[in-house]
Amino acid sequence: MNPLQSRVPACVSVIGAGIAGTWQALMFAKAGCKVALYERSGPSLTQATGHWAGGMLAPYCEGETAEYLITRLGLRSLDLWRETLPQARFNGSLVVAHARDRADMDRFDRLAGPHQRVGADDIAELEPMLAGRFREGLFFTQEGHVDPRQALPALHDALRASGVPIEFKSAAAPDDFDGVVIDCRGIAARDDTCPDLRGVKGEIIIVETPEIALSRPIRLVHPRWPLYIVPRSGNRFLIGATSIEANDERVSVRSALELLTGAYAIHPAFGEARIVDMGAALRPAFPDNLPRVTVDDTRITVNGLYRHGFLLAPAVAELTVAHVLGERTDNEVVRCS
Ligand SMILES: Cc1cc2nc3c(=O)[nH]c(=O)nc-3n(C[C@H](O)[C@H](O)[C@H](O)COP(=O)(O)OP(=O)(O)OC[C@H]3O[C@@H](n4cnc5c(N)ncnc54)[C@H](O)[C@@H]3O)c2cc1C
Repeated sequence: MNPLQSRVPACVSVIGAGIAGTWQALMFAKAGCKVALYERSGPSLTQATGHWAGGMLAPYCEGETAEYLITRLGLRSLDLWRETLPQARFNGSLVVAHARDRADMDRFDRLAGPHQRVGADDIAELEPMLAGRFREGLFFTQEGHVDPRQALPALHDALRASGVPIEFKSAAAPDDFDGVVIDCRGIAARDDTCPDLRGVKGEIIIVETPEIALSRPIRLVHPRWPLYIVPRSGNRFLIGATSIEANDERVSVRSALELLTGAYAIHPAFGEARIVDMGAALRPAFPDNLPRVTVDDTRITVNGLYRHGFLLAPAVAELTVAHVLGERTDNEVVRCS
């Protein structure tokens, strides 16, 4: 019998323990399936794009550049993150701009989802370190963030606790398994199953300083060098990210200069911070920059999460499970061949 006709498949093999594969494994296990997860790298997932991600869960901010589908899926994902990972923080995102870039801020204001326009006093209350530095900002109260380097191991622990084995250092191919296979190899799938996938390079720098305290992601609107700073534990801050149509995974001098200059312009105390990590990765993107679940009988490919993998993975996994169990098919995301 075709496993997709039996509603709850006997076994589901998920390839890739990045954010897409991890949420697929979680949701199939929750639906009562016997799941196994295979990952080519070790538990720290240094080969995953997500290793370098900001981890922002920002469905409204992303509305400035992305289609409504991203906001729709992102809002559902926020609920799933809340239910699943207590460490996820939901204290909003703050968008600021220097006075000369007011037109760009107004544009962000028009295009992004619901938020409050805040003044200098509100900014000082939300983020005391930024007192006196910006006259206006946009506050997205419902948004959240996670540290990918902590969130993924925590989700893997949750998987093991629910009986899902995770085989690290196990490179696999979709044809290696019987039953339902969920291929979540990210940009690595470009070489065979997803020829129209491309990599969009993102570079980041992580710095450490006790001189700065921030409680939520800060986005700087800028006509040429938009950037964000995401606070992490241990006085660390992720400064990101570039977005370049390129295939190499190394940080250029130009990008490093731009990211560090931007951070310094947000607060000069970043000038004394220590650089603790720096790197780049390729965001897996289809030509329309939208996520895609491609179903070919029992072979299912989940990819194209582009710059929204942490934001979208829970909702995309929920839709994949709903399709496999025959409950519903979201045709904006799921494509059957
Ligand atoms: C600089 C930067 C900042 C970002 N910031 C954010 C953000 O703030 N918020 C957000 O939502 N998204 C963000 N993203 C995007 C997010 O990181 C990606 O969308 C996401 O990582 C894609 O997830 P994935 O699981 O498809 O791919 P990956 O994260 O690459 O995971 C794929 C996994 O598959 C494994 N694999 C590959 N081949 C095999 C094989 N043959 N066998 C077994 N395992 C295999 C890989 O080792 C890897 O662990 C950012 C990306 C970058 C680069």
